[in-house]
Amino acid sequence: AAQIWYENDGDLSVFNGKKVAIIGYGSQGHAHALNLRDSGVDVVVGLRPTSKSVEFAKEQGLDVKSVADAAAEADVIMILTPDQAQRKVWANEIEPNLKPGAAIAFAHGFNIHYGYIKPTEDHPVFMVAPKGPGHIVRREYAAGRGVPVVVAVQQDPRGDAWDLTLAYAKALGALRAGAIRTTFKEETETDLFGEQNVLLGGVNKLVEMGFEVLTDAGYQPEIAYFEVCHELKMIVDLMNEGGLNKDRWSCSDTAQYGDYVNTCIDEHVRERMEYHLKRIQDGSFAKEFIEDQDAGAPKFKQLQEEYSHVRIEEVGPKLRAMFSWNNDGVKDADEANSF
Ligand code: NDP
Ligand code: MG
Ligand code: MG
Repeated sequence: AAQIWYENDGDLSVFNGKKVAIIGYGSQGHAHALNLRDSGVDVVVGLRPTSKSVEFAKEQGLDVKSVADAAAEADVIMILTPDQAQRKVWANEIEPNLKPGAAIAFAHGFNIHYGYIKPTEDHPVFMVAPKGPGHIVRREYAAGRGVPVVVAVQQDPRGDAWDLTLAYAKALGALRAGAIRTTFKEETETDLFGEQNVLLGGVNKLVEMGFEVLTDAGYQPEIAYFEVCHELKMIVDLMNEGGLNKDRWSCSDTAQYGDYVNTCIDEHVRERMEYHLKRIQDGSFAKEFIEDQDAGAPKFKQLQEEYSHVRIEEVGPKLRAMFSWNNDGVKDADEANSF
């Protein structure tokens, strides 16, 4: 069975007399910096001087320095720049300035697993990877709860890497929910698989295509939007509480029978998933992504542009504005009238 740690398994005194540098202040960075600070940890934030986040972080009372200066004074360095930027930030600003034996930490295993970053043996290397968006990591902490994490140790030269990992997870608020033990390899490969095939690539495509098939067949976009997009959250809430059996239990027998016999997801999709998993395991997905990013991300930017105009997104703001049950419907109304 998987090893899981909770609140009493972490000891915050591990950080006594130590400084933790959080590099980056985006989705994860702001959450880690603020949660650790509020847990009593001595935090410094490392950012490029040009970053618009310098002011945001300072407004929160955080100490902000250049990446090089923050790395130079830290005993633990959590790298929370985008994955594609980490290799260069590491080589140019972090590695040349490290204190001997400083611990290096990540929220995703990508750069260590695929070998883009190779800390020398004397540095502990660990991962605390929240299984939720950064803004929820902050929101849950502030509410006295936490978002679960997966944790791993890649290098443990002194024998204290797990103490650091669990102390970090505790300071982040994550042990209130739980920390599951994994490896850099397992976290990286499963995280990429999940986001590509199910969470983003799977669900987004299902919603997009479902909307197009219905509206092409002449059904009203308002009705189509409701059937293939809005209701999704309610089904997912039930799934989250009680798994697939609970979401089926709450739906009609008609819905269940259709789910079993009339779904578009078939063995062909399994084969596509297995194919994508191989491309993750053999590094070809990572290579393709990083090569495009290194060239200025031409393919990525083109795809972002194309996908921001799929038909459900063209009408989505107007439709959401019409729905009184949408919290921000009123706020969006004027903007949506311009469609
Ligand atoms: P974001 O894109 O939200 O934030 C990136 C931060 O890094 C910004 O503050 C940005 O500041 C800064 N940054 C970017 N480039 C550089 C650079 N060259 N030098 C210095 N700072 C830089 O990243 P995320 O929080 O989404 O991702 C961070 C890590 O967390 C990744 O490893 C990701 O896989 C992982 N993760 C993310 C999750 C999420 O919820 N988003 C969930 C779990 C893990 P600026 O550009 O203003 O300089
Ligand atoms: Mg993930
Ligand atoms: Mg991911």
